[in-house]
Amino acid sequence: MEHIEGHEPDRARAKESWLTVLAGPTAVGKGTVSTYIRDTYPEVWLSVSATTREPRPGETDGVHYFFKTAEEFDRLVTEGAFLEWAVVHGKNRYGTLRSSVEEAIAEGRRVLLEIDLQGARQVKEAMPGARFVFLAPPSWEEMVRRLVGRGTESPEEQQRRLETAKIELAAEPEFDFTVVNDDVRRAADELVSLMGLTPHARQSTR
Ligand code: 5GP
Repeated sequence: MEHIEGHEPDRARAKESWLTVLAGPTAVGKGTVSTYIRDTYPEVWLSVSATTREPRPGETDGVHYFFKTAEEFDRLVTEGAFLEWAVVHGKNRYGTLRSSVEEAIAEGRRVLLEIDLQGARQVKEAMPGARFVFLAPPSWEEMVRRLVGRGTESPEEQQRRLETAKIELAAEPEFDFTVVNDDVRRAADELVSLMGLTPHARQSTR
């Protein structure tokens, strides 16, 4: 007998609903939305990923990412430490540390993962009861403008990201919800509502 207590799978499924996965195409602004949420909604537990990418100026180890060497990342993969991991933009590896996410869920925290599409698919396999939210650009032109406007990557890298973005846009139907990133605060508030939290009252200047 695999399950002596008949309701274990239901309970596990219910717990998974505390987990929300935010994914979407390159340069749609996932990072901006999750940064806004980190700064504005301390009640959301935002997962800190491990990555083999070099830190950018202003990024802090343990806050934005856990920066790892290739060897350290290999070891974490071998140990089964990742809930999901992927090579993003054909370059660096990024992964979600399983234990920290499971602990946060067990504590009843509202957990948010901001990851790429490949990672979102892996989480769907592992935790089908989680919420999957697709962050969409207001338009393709706007997305290109954002990608080029960021200016931190080489033209080759930008081209690579655009190719990835086209493929990723086609994945929208795989998700439970779509949030359009027309305005960071509005999109973040919509996401927080989808997570079952009450968005903070916004001061109106109009
Ligand atoms: P960046 O290098 O600009 O911080 O992030 C690049 C991409 O990596 C973003 O699309 C982001 O969503 C994705 N990413 C960040 N952390 C993870 C992770 O833990 N797993 C996966 N699969 N993708 C991630």
